[in-house]
Amino acid sequence: MASLAEFLQQLPDSEVLRITEPMALDYFPTALVLELERRKRFPVLWLERPLGSALPVIANLFADRGRIARMAGAAPGEFNAAWLRAEENPISPRIVPSGPVHEVVLAGDQADAGLLPIARHFQQDAGRYIGSGILVCRDPDTGVRNLSYQRLQLKTGNRFGVSLHSRGHIWDYLLRCEARNRNLEVAVVIGCHPAVYLAAGAKVAMEVDEYDLAGALLGKPVELVRCKTIDMEVPAEAEIVLEGEILANVREDEGPFGEYTGYSTSRSTRNVFVVKAITRREKPLFLDIIPGYSSEHLLLGRCAKEAHVFQRIKEVVPTLVALNYPKSGTHFHAYLSLKKTAEGQARHALMLLFGLDPYVKFAVAVDEDIDVFNEEEVLWAIATRFQADTDMFVVNRVFCNRLDPSAVDGMSAKVGLDATAPPNWDVERTTLPSEAVDFVRKILGQFGL
Ligand code: MN
Repeated sequence: MASLAEFLQQLPDSEVLRITEPMALDYFPTALVLELERRKRFPVLWLERPLGSALPVIANLFADRGRIARMAGAAPGEFNAAWLRAEENPISPRIVPSGPVHEVVLAGDQADAGLLPIARHFQQDAGRYIGSGILVCRDPDTGVRNLSYQRLQLKTGNRFGVSLHSRGHIWDYLLRCEARNRNLEVAVVIGCHPAVYLAAGAKVAMEVDEYDLAGALLGKPVELVRCKTIDMEVPAEAEIVLEGEILANVREDEGPFGEYTGYSTSRSTRNVFVVKAITRREKPLFLDIIPGYSSEHLLLGRCAKEAHVFQRIKEVVPTLVALNYPKSGTHFHAYLSLKKTAEGQARHALMLLFGLDPYVKFAVAVDEDIDVFNEEEVLWAIATRFQADTDMFVVNRVFCNRLDPSAVDGMSAKVGLDATAPPNWDVERTTLPSEAVDFVRKILGQFGL
């Protein structure tokens, strides 16, 4: 058993902001999350009474790194290790005969997604969007399942616009279905144990079933039930599932939508998802993921990638210490630290990073005494250990992410900054004795600071 509600129950009260006041779904939850971010606060939002719906809405679940580590069964700061262990030790899911997600089955005309508390998130958005749907589908040739997120724009009660612009495995599946003039069966999971969400966000090989990865994070097989109207399996403990198909060779306008870059974009593959049935718990929670340039949208796309890229660089540069994709850079900036043992090692690590992740276009290497998760320290290292004429390199016109509004023809320039100190640097950082630091930390702790 592993459900969203169980995960929420074991969070400390301080991590959950319960709002009982009736709240409109259009814009208000987004505004609330972004205001909390300005205050450097990242609680889960639990909206008890969203206007126009009987279902409570959960949002901002993925906005905090400590909580994401917990989802992977790890202590804060231990996410990378837990993730890499899971990648290496997948656990296959288990089919069970029934589950809470089938407590209510609404098929045909009864399946009205318009009744769900689907929000409009930004003023530029084309309409109400599900940003928290995990699309589960199957490779038409090998049968291997795929889990991924794609934005879904509510058009009518049983019709959504969907963009597969990330051109991941689901896009490849659809193209192969379209060549045979067949629709692609898809189940959309809205709300389940967040470990399944982490797995669905991973960029793993096409041969990997993301449920195996989710099982590895949970330490036990994910229990699945067979869908009612399509040949697909969904977590038995899910909150809500839309069963349906992406139509072959049909294109309709979709978007614009507020993307992770912080800009509204109309870039879309313009596909159409048609709902055949809605299945759900008797009393489901509706999970929303605030899209755009929000911490949860960025972290969910980033944590697994960070762990994966870190490990690939470390295999070649074993002196690598840490890697961070700062929120300020959306997915385009990265900071790495290393315990440098030879000149040129920092540039080597930076080139590996650019090679592994085409989204990155600005990367900084610092020494191990700099905390890459503290942006102020990284900028201090640039201020005091970096000279632009000798410590910087630029590579022109490299493949990049097209959602970067400054990219030209899908290409961008890459800039690497080596802000590590030269060897035998005779400059000394100011320090304090550890007894003094330990003592004041204890005192501050007594004041709850
Ligand atoms: Mn896949």
